[in-house]
Amino acid sequence: MIIKKQIRTRTREEILDISPLVREAVQQSGVQEGICVVFVPHTTCAVTINENADADVKRDILWFLKKLIPQSREFRHAEENSDAHLKTMFTGNSATLLIDSQRPLSGTWQGIYFCEYDGPRTRNVIIKVLAG
Ligand code: ZN
Repeated sequence: MIIKKQIRTRTREEILDISPLVREAVQQSGVQEGICVVFVPHTTCAVTINENADADVKRDILWFLKKLIPQSREFRHAEENSDAHLKTMFTGNSATLLIDSQRPLSGTWQGIYFCEYDGPRTRNVIIKVLAG
């Protein structure tokens, strides 16, 4: 079963905790044990797993990526969002989680993050749950 969810981002760059959305999808699938793949079919946003206990971690990730890959007139891409494409490349388009007892396994401090680098936009998150 493939589950599609939509997310509306509100600023150019932001990180949203989508752990509840992924938990809901796994529950919806009915799969007790298996694998869950979270995929974003876009080129200027990403999905990753990182600390969600301290909100400053999200801020620091965005701050560092902006410092590492600033918007620049030297990029040739006509959309002027090459920085967002590169940030997506660094962060990745998918995350894989293990499922146990119909819940995605995660460490105490982990959250599943949707990373927007070229918002605000309506984005799709595709989740595939496999039993096994
Ligand atoms: Zn572009």
